Amino acid sequence: KKRVGVLALQGAFREHRQVLEHLGCDVIEVRKTSDFEGIHGLIIPGGESTTIGKLLMIDEMGEKIKELGTQDLPIFGTCAGMILLSKTIIDSDQYRLNLMDTVVERNAFGRQVASFETDLLVPAMGPNPLRAVFIRAPYLREVAPNVGILAEYEGRIVFARQGNLLASAFHPELTPDLRVHQYFLDMIDEH
Ligand code: GLN
Repeated sequence: KKRVGVLALQGAFREHRQVLEHLGCDVIEVRKTSDFEGIHGLIIPGGESTTIGKLLMIDEMGEKIKELGTQDLPIFGTCAGMILLSKTIIDSDQYRLNLMDTVVERNAFGRQVASFETDLLVPAMGPNPLRAVFIRAPYLREVAPNVGILAEYEGRIVFARQGNLLASAFHPELTPDLRVHQYFLDMIDEH
């Protein structure tokens, strides 16, 4: 049985937990460095990236995640998680994990339509579009050639993979479609 950690410092970790349990995983809510022991993958949920970043500095949890990510542990960041994974955050010096060769822009979809839902085409997940929920979402303004683009919305990169690292601007834990979490679990199987 797969043991998947969900970073549970702040944000939408309960919803990820429910989806992963539905898919038959053992879920560990990660709140301190020793909680990383024995996990096969880690999800960094949406929430507030500056807050999660500050909390990651306690107990050197962020350093531990960097180490695990560099050692090939599959890590999936959604929304704030995508921000934290990126090496470059436009106009911000906030704490980050510095793992993905991506340039991210926060709150990129404007104030009027800060939150919205749309049907997203994700070719890697078959012909049926994915219902995607965006909440004060970021997007990837630039990615290095070693980063695979999984989906774009209006020409903006909102879903990408770099080896063992996966990042989505949207919240797959808020819709009943299980394909994104299943994709992450398949990444865990590959490793
Ligand atoms: N706007 C948030 C941030 O910058 C991310 C929003 C989210 O995770 N839903 O951290």
